[in-house]
Amino acid sequence: MKKIFIFVLTLILLCGCSEKRVTKQGFYFDTVVNISAKKDDLSYIQQAMNKCREYEKIFSKTNSESELYKLNNGEKIKIDSHLKKVIDFGLDFSHLTDGAFDITVSPLCDLWNIKERTSPPTDDEVNAALSNVGYSAVSRNPFSLNGRKIDLGAIAKGYIADNLTEFFKSKNVKNVIIDLGGNVAVIGTYTVGIRNPFNPDKVYATFTLKDKSAVTSGAYQRYFEYNGTRYHHILDPRTGKCADNSIASVTVVSPSSMYADALSTAIYVLGEEGLSLCESFEDTDAIIIYSDESIAFTDGFDNKYNLQIKK
Ligand code: AMP
Ligand code: MG
Repeated sequence: MKKIFIFVLTLILLCGCSEKRVTKQGFYFDTVVNISAKKDDLSYIQQAMNKCREYEKIFSKTNSESELYKLNNGEKIKIDSHLKKVIDFGLDFSHLTDGAFDITVSPLCDLWNIKERTSPPTDDEVNAALSNVGYSAVSRNPFSLNGRKIDLGAIAKGYIADNLTEFFKSKNVKNVIIDLGGNVAVIGTYTVGIRNPFNPDKVYATFTLKDKSAVTSGAYQRYFEYNGTRYHHILDPRTGKCADNSIASVTVVSPSSMYADALSTAIYVLGEEGLSLCESFEDTDAIIIYSDESIAFTDGFDNKYNLQIKK
């Protein structure tokens, strides 16, 4: 196994391995992107970074040139096939979770505006935003948002990580680490660290990741505190408020980074019942770290991935 150590949620290479490796860094999707492979594969890393720039032009919610922005703002556009695939998956997944996960959560995300707010919105403001949320209003055939606005922040990085993985595989590149913030996908075998949500410079646990993706959703990177309560970026579309299940972080491991991405967000909202949903996906597992530092995981996670608690 490669002696490279990765934090799920922002890649940190703690120690190198014998082969000569190179890591390129970029800033896309509002997060730091790191892609690492053998030195000989540098040109492929560069191509993958260029792809990130292209994906940003499709999925960004804030860039007025992006496909998603245009769609959300009523411009008549031919929907790009990448965008169509992610929206279709997002709608299916919203349905599957009965709206605990909902890609039409956008008005609530805008209202909560976690990056800039210093106090929570009023109940009236929350209710007004909630009245514009609900995936079932979106019609697929013919496609129409019917006044809804879409936020793909919970799944787009997973889709992109899957596509970059396919790109490297098509070039026969081995031993690659793709880290899109909280989304890690690897070709090869690596030891991965789950960041300690109570002390984010430390590792809470490690496990082995082989030719799969690991995605973490947590409340310790994007949040503000008001009167002793933490308000964070994962919202419960059923209440309009921040999801509150006493969860500090959820990490999902799956062959598909998009599934892992969707599930980590959904489990954060659903709590422990989300673990059974996770088990209904093939070869897909999850670990929840609760605010009281207890943990729960899908059956066999510890043996299957050689889970080591370090805290
Ligand atoms: P993640 O970090 O993958 O868990 O995704 C969180 C992001 O997904 C947020 O910043 C929002 O853009 C969006 N989001 C928040 N709550 C939900 C939800 N309940 N369902 C779908 N997307 C959400
Ligand atoms: Mg997610």
